[in-house]
Amino acid sequence: MKPALPGVLAINGGSSSIRFTIYEVGSLRPRLHGKIDRIGLPGANLIVTNPTGKSQPACPVPAANHSAAVAFLLKWLESQPIFASIHAVGHRVVHGMKHSHPTRITPGLLAELRRIVPYDPDHLPHEIALIEAFAQRHPKLPQVACFDTAFHRTMPPVAKLLPIPRRYAARGVERYGFHGLSYAYLMEELRRLHPRAAQGRVILAHLGNGASLAAVHRGKSVDTSMGFTPAAGLVMSTRTGDLDPGIVYYLARVEKMSAAKFQQMVNHESGLLGVSGTSSDLRDLLARKKDSHAVAAVDLFCYQARKWIGSFAAALGGLDTLVFSAGIGENSSIIRKRICHDLDFLGIKLDPKRNAKNAPLISTNGSPVKVRVIRTDEEQMIARSVTRLLNLNSIRRPRS
Ligand code: ADP
Repeated sequence: MKPALPGVLAINGGSSSIRFTIYEVGSLRPRLHGKIDRIGLPGANLIVTNPTGKSQPACPVPAANHSAAVAFLLKWLESQPIFASIHAVGHRVVHGMKHSHPTRITPGLLAELRRIVPYDPDHLPHEIALIEAFAQRHPKLPQVACFDTAFHRTMPPVAKLLPIPRRYAARGVERYGFHGLSYAYLMEELRRLHPRAAQGRVILAHLGNGASLAAVHRGKSVDTSMGFTPAAGLVMSTRTGDLDPGIVYYLARVEKMSAAKFQQMVNHESGLLGVSGTSSDLRDLLARKKDSHAVAAVDLFCYQARKWIGSFAAALGGLDTLVFSAGIGENSSIIRKRICHDLDFLGIKLDPKRNAKNAPLISTNGSPVKVRVIRTDEEQMIARSVTRLLNLNSIRRPRS
């Protein structure tokens, strides 16, 4: 049998799902992709897709909690012939504090990640558990942390500063921004396809369940809508986005709401779900045309995205390119149209036919601002980062 080409495994571990892709080193073609979802819920599944994009039948996973899912995933991966070809593992790590680049995981870095768990208690424990599981079973396999915050370390001090007493900034309480792997990928794509545009004033709109925007100038992040945590900025599927800080005291005093309950409400019960009262999924809400709460949720999402575009155009001193990406940004022509409605004054003019087709360029030929749709790929970005950091392209191919 022909030996497998060297591979790199990219892991994107969330609280209720773990996605993974094995890429061939060199071409970075995906060889095997899979996802465990519904972790902690009845009916957790592993769905595997082969290189042709064909999905195998879903396999039930005994994933009562995250550590059971991790143990299952590792055993399953080890049973796959391609696993022997893996030379390194890259992890998406949502919070990286001051790290500005992907970093090789050492016991020191792991200790640092454990220390910063309070900065991101929703994501970091799960990511650490995945890293530890690999380190335990495959201690010689190099692992790399790819931080979602790293892309935004170039933000100027004024965009990082939170207007609270100074002593908190000294303890790391500042605006970090997230979705950095997606933004790094989108900028690499823009640079590859339109190098001049990538040097200009760009707004990237990553609109998925988690949603944020980034303002980028000369290829560097200058501002972003998420802040100290991913709960800030734009209204999202279940997160509030920016909220009047006075609400905290009101809810604590009048409703006797605890900090834990507030955290749960802000992250999991609000946003499109909270406003509509029925669904966090934009497709569901768009289908409920006669439900005034669903309509209000969609209105709010589009209104806020427009406001963020306006504010970032001001921060950038003008705008050359607007990029839509992620589940909503890549697929929903209706939402893009509503967000861009009446933004002609900023130079944004959508071409309805191009927009309806989700074309790569959806603005008119004469539009001063080029509006583009680019499919994001965070796992590909992880694989690229690992390959570059560990210089994997220099690995010699196995002889056939
Ligand atoms: P995640 O942040 O979990 O990766 P995605 O990027 O997959 O999320 O985005 C999920 C969101 O994209 C959901 O709100 C879903 O309804 C929306 N979405 C996906 N496809 C479409 C579509 N064709 N039209 C409208 N919304 C869509």
